[in-house]
Amino acid sequence: MSEETLFTRIIKGEIPADIIYEDEHCFAIRDIAPKAPTHLLVIPRKPIPRLVDATAEDKAILGHLMLTVGEIARQAGVDEAFRVVINNGAGVGQTVFHLHLHILGNKKFSEDSLGF
Ligand code: 5GP
Repeated sequence: MSEETLFTRIIKGEIPADIIYEDEHCFAIRDIAPKAPTHLLVIPRKPIPRLVDATAEDKAILGHLMLTVGEIARQAGVDEAFRVVINNGAGVGQTVFHLHLHILGNKKFSEDSLGF
């Protein structure tokens, strides 16, 4: 059985997805079960399982992901108001153990809540 993550299989074309962006370090897809009218996932090609598993070696990738989130939010037209979420661990709902940043836009969020 393959040990590749769902997201690695998506970027390899083994599982269909709406890939809206890709570069040498990361790619972005539309979430299959959107929690907001705009719900995108920005994913490093390197399958770092959780944010806490990143090391100093991943510093450039992590910086690149943050810059790319801004770029993708601009492209999606939500750059004036969007939320970025990273779930770290099953205890807060992480279901795919390949680091990813959720971009959530075109949705009204409560200012006093950090949830979806
Ligand atoms: P997590 O809960 O791990 O932070 O987020 C995983 C996300 O991946 C969820 O929002 C879920 O809807 C999304 N997801 C799960 N399977 C697929 C899939 O096959 N394709 C796409 N595009 N998104 C998926």
